[in-house]
Amino acid sequence: MKLWVTPQGDRWICDECQVNFEKEIKTEGWRVAFEEKSNAMLRCFACKHGDVELFD
Ligand SMILES: [Zn+2]
Repeated sequence: MKLWVTPQGDRWICDECQVNFEKEIKTEGWRVAFEEKSNAMLRCFACKHGDVELFD
């Protein structure tokens, strides 16, 4: 999961969804502000899933 700085604000996006934003990343000049390896509290902006799936 990476925190991307986008024209619409900062967004957490997981590695799987990142490929869907390759165009925006290039054309809008997104950059990575922060990278989090496995923080269960974070949710991806696109798929709403976390890096770590929790089963309650
Ligand atoms: Zn995602």
